[in-house]
Amino acid sequence: MSSVLTDKHPCFSAQAQHQYARMHLPVAPRCNISCNYCSRKFDCVNESRPGVTSEILSPQEAREKFEQVKAAIPNLSVIGIAGPGDALANWEETRKTIELIKQENPEILVCLSTNGLLLPEYAPELIKLGVRHVTVTVNCIDPVVGAQIYGTINYEGKRYMGVEGSKILIHNQQEGIMYLAGHGVSVKVNIVMMKIVNDWHIPEVVKRVKELGACMTNIMPFIPAPGSVFSGLPQTSMNEVAAVRSVCAGEVKQMTHCRQCRADAIGLLGQDRSSEFRRRLRETEP
Ligand code: SF4
Ligand code: SF4
Repeated sequence: MSSVLTDKHPCFSAQAQHQYARMHLPVAPRCNISCNYCSRKFDCVNESRPGVTSEILSPQEAREKFEQVKAAIPNLSVIGIAGPGDALANWEETRKTIELIKQENPEILVCLSTNGLLLPEYAPELIKLGVRHVTVTVNCIDPVVGAQIYGTINYEGKRYMGVEGSKILIHNQQEGIMYLAGHGVSVKVNIVMMKIVNDWHIPEVVKRVKELGACMTNIMPFIPAPGSVFSGLPQTSMNEVAAVRSVCAGEVKQMTHCRQCRADAIGLLGQDRSSEFRRRLRETEP
């Protein structure tokens, strides 16, 4: 998996991480599901480590901040929408932000991360907007496992729980990944590895998402978030993550350089410069 576009994306290409900078735009405060490892006082745990919160920007503010960052960081190659909630659960803000920045900067790569619930609805529009890199968090492919990981799933005006809710989420994630990959989008799958809950199930998840067209998986350690349902579960060590990654490496490329960045991260992956550009902190919506 290598293309001119991906070679400039610091997350999709380990080589690019030392050359190209990314900028996350925190325009998506709301979420449509509740993961039991999440505390909504913090950024979406599917991309970030718990314990950090981001400012929230309007699409116009995001565009202004982008111009400021672009002037200061010439090797900026990617903008990403990664929370602090779910990018697609804040569709109008996400769409507007991408449009505003893309119309003046057609060369910029646009990347987005999501829990995948709304992918069947918005995947065609993401492609039209020029999004060529998407990260979907898929923690399981079995709804019985999902019933332990997810609390509520809010979908099309209704609230679902347990196996019923997980079935909808898993179905939509898989349909979305297949559609995106089938239309030339590079899809990375994040998996939060939780002991006993889903660690044993991860090779099956990796096999399935590869079949659907994902180009890479990013197995991430579970880090207990204070205030979350899973706050009492043990943290997953990097040695444990590395062991499962090595089992899965024969199936699909493994990401090993993820930094679990904030939703407003800026700069090279190892050098977050977000504090230099922060404007103001607004309350993150629950
Ligand atoms: Fe939290 Fe992200 Fe899960 Fe939403 S998708 S509940 S923001 S971890
Ligand atoms: Fe890349 Fe991981 Fe940071 Fe997302 S959280 S921008 S995948 S390094």
